[in-house]
Amino acid sequence: MAHSPAYPRDSSESADPLAAYHAKRDFSRTPEPKGGAASGKPRGSLRFVVQKHAASRLHFDLRLELDGVLKSWAVTKGPSLDPADKRLAVEVEDHPLEYRSFEGRIESGYGAGTVMIWDEGRWEPAPEVDDPAEALARGNLKFVLHGRRLRGGWDLVRMKSRPKDRRPQWLLIKRHDAEERPGEGGRLVEQALTSVRTGRTMEEIAGNAPARKSRSVAAGRS
Ligand code: MN
Repeated sequence: MAHSPAYPRDSSESADPLAAYHAKRDFSRTPEPKGGAASGKPRGSLRFVVQKHAASRLHFDLRLELDGVLKSWAVTKGPSLDPADKRLAVEVEDHPLEYRSFEGRIESGYGAGTVMIWDEGRWEPAPEVDDPAEALARGNLKFVLHGRRLRGGWDLVRMKSRPKDRRPQWLLIKRHDAEERPGEGGRLVEQALTSVRTGRTMEEIAGNAPARKSRSVAAGRS
């Protein structure tokens, strides 16, 4: 049975999932990847990235690969390992798969600011989820992250009330498991201040400093 989304979509989004992404950006000016059409690559080995983005407001962009694009949410305060924390995650436009490797400075235009690859790895739907696309359409995705900083089970839950003319709002919540850190609140985002890809700080990325060859960066790269 077809699920109709509970909120209106840009008509452009149904035809080309990346139409909104392309419409917001001038690729002659931004260093962000243009990306091709959404690829029909089969699921199985799905990637995720969390990008720390110092735009007009600092946030953390969670992007989950699904059906050839990166489904994306802007997590205002960043993820928390404490299951008691419900972190607001505003749904944003699908991004091209290439975006998971983007780190750098967007000088002007949409999203102007510095972008850091704050975490990355693979993800999978939780065992009880048959169809992650359908789970997202229903507004509740249980999933497992295999990242450097984020691991274990997580929930994305879409809130029923949606502010007028605004993107759908979700909550990102750590599930109870061996990877939870009750009571730690925002400690992870306060302490993890470097790129997992290049070891650079936000200031170093903004200044286009070279990647650090630190052990923590070299180790464990998949
Ligand atoms: Mn962003």
